[in-house]
Amino acid sequence: MPKKTRPGHSAEVARQELKDVVGCMSCGLPMKRTQREVASELADLCPSCVDKSGHLKSYDEVFEGLVTKHYMKKESMSRSEAEKVARQRMSELPAWKDAETST
Ligand SMILES: [Zn+2]
Repeated sequence: MPKKTRPGHSAEVARQELKDVVGCMSCGLPMKRTQREVASELADLCPSCVDKSGHLKSYDEVFEGLVTKHYMKKESMSRSEAEKVARQRMSELPAWKDAETST
């Protein structure tokens, strides 16, 4: 008896996981979310963009986090380069688009 393996299984799981990876609408970074988060207001924001009570942090806080924790640390950018990229990126995201243009 050949052992039954399911080669398609892991690909299917991977695809389902992929479906749950969305970009945060505040910082634009890909994130994974749980079904519970999907059903809540936090669905489109990653944990680093909200405070303890679940509210979106200020532009400056999100900006600072994106610059130091993402671009400088993970992408090894210089401070000035990271600020430039982060500002550009945030200007295109839903959470800040309106705030930027309405003023
Ligand atoms: Zn975020």
